[in-house]
Amino acid sequence: MNFDKLFQAQLDTLKQEGNYRIFAELERKCGEFPRVTNHSKGQREVTVWCSNDYLGMGQHPKVIEAMVSTVQDCGTGAGGTRNISGNAWHHKQLEAELADLHHKEAALLFTSGYVSNWAALSTLGSRLPNAVILSDALNHASMIEGIRHARCQKVIWKHNDPEDLDRKLAALPANATKIVAFESVYSMDGDIAPIKEILDVCDKHGAMSYIDEVHAVGMYGPRGGGVAEREGLMDRITLIEGTLGKAFGVVGGYITGSHALVDFIRSFASGFIFTTALPPAVAAAATASIRHLKESSYERDMQKRQVARLRARLDAEGIPHERNPSHIIPVMVKDPVKCRMLSDILMEQFGIYVQPINYPTVPKGTERLRFTPGPLHTDEDIEYLVLALKTLWKQCAIAHAVA
Ligand SMILES: *Cc1c(COP(=O)(O)O)cnc(C)c1O
Repeated sequence: MNFDKLFQAQLDTLKQEGNYRIFAELERKCGEFPRVTNHSKGQREVTVWCSNDYLGMGQHPKVIEAMVSTVQDCGTGAGGTRNISGNAWHHKQLEAELADLHHKEAALLFTSGYVSNWAALSTLGSRLPNAVILSDALNHASMIEGIRHARCQKVIWKHNDPEDLDRKLAALPANATKIVAFESVYSMDGDIAPIKEILDVCDKHGAMSYIDEVHAVGMYGPRGGGVAEREGLMDRITLIEGTLGKAFGVVGGYITGSHALVDFIRSFASGFIFTTALPPAVAAAATASIRHLKESSYERDMQKRQVARLRARLDAEGIPHERNPSHIIPVMVKDPVKCRMLSDILMEQFGIYVQPINYPTVPKGTERLRFTPGPLHTDEDIEYLVLALKTLWKQCAIAHAVA
């Protein structure tokens, strides 16, 4: 039996559709971000425009110092699961920091944001009596997989539509344990959920609320607690989930909530119990990053400035981009082959790295380039990017925005 034929057939289909994923072989250089070395074709310096290290914290001196000194003190790995190795001093400190960030009683760490969503939702949905998870239609894959694994009843409500959520909650039996799962910043369109309205609907129906603030923590709110912090809503949310891998610049995921909720997930979630804990140095670095961003608004302010600047320059040149209230700037191409081609030309001719976003990450026909300006992009970087896009827009005969 030639199994490779089976694999190849599906890969060929992907390639024909223009959806085959190719990863750039980039090497980050500490202190030079967003400049990185591209090893894909020879060696060349390029500027990254699509990083989720949104604030450049991955090279912040305090974060690096915390990681390096902890490796020297504690060695590399945690030595096993929290259960077995018990090596959790740095993890406990980080959890206290996270609980404080979101004004919750407790927090629990996972090896990634993906795992935290997967483990928490699957545990809630499978263990709570008559659980029904009501999931926003555009929720991230990690939430969808967690809900699938819960094998409880699932209801999908219209994206960011509290009225639809209200109708769907009203249709459920009185004895259901209702869990409403949604995100704050949706990372592909950059739109933000009407959190207050959603929480009002949850309260009306006695539903618990589960929010993914992965694309908001570190960046929104006076201490980087996310959109819910900015809007004064953290105390009304049952469970806040986040990542340490994006704006905090390290790796790992977490949930925060009441003592009982966090103890429940800690005690029953397979995805927490049976996997090696994060290295202590990673936990220490994340703690340093969170502490810094609780006090410093400089990175957030600079990010806002550069986001506004890129938007204004795109407008001035008639390059169409989606309007949204976040830090994410999607430039619609609406064709997977063109999208990849634009990304290739930007890399090869201009030294600009922006990954094409194609199906299944976004629906077919909404392929896009997604720009995430940050505090380390200079005004000259923005000017150069806009110049490159302007040149390509002329060449590629993609309709300009109609004024
Ligand atoms: C990236 C992402 C996650 C997963 O977080 P990781 O720490 O990268 O595993 C979860 N939710 C959303 C919305 C994401 O974009």
